Amino acid sequence: MKADIHPNYKEVTVTCACGNTFTTGSVKDELRVEICSECHPFFTGRQKFVERGGRVEKFKKKYNMD
Ligand SMILES: [Zn+2]
Repeated sequence: MKADIHPNYKEVTVTCACGNTFTTGSVKDELRVEICSECHPFFTGRQKFVERGGRVEKFKKKYNMD
């Protein structure tokens, strides 16, 4: 960890519900998102992650989402 940057701002791994991961700068330790540029309908034309049902179902149960 570099001491010469803002101590609370660091690179974190973002995990999407579709299984995609990417890094971004954040003050948090980790981030989870439902939609990323890999699966957002705006980019794909459809919700690709629906095809990966098992993984999404786990995710939904864990976070009480529907
Ligand atoms: Zn995604």
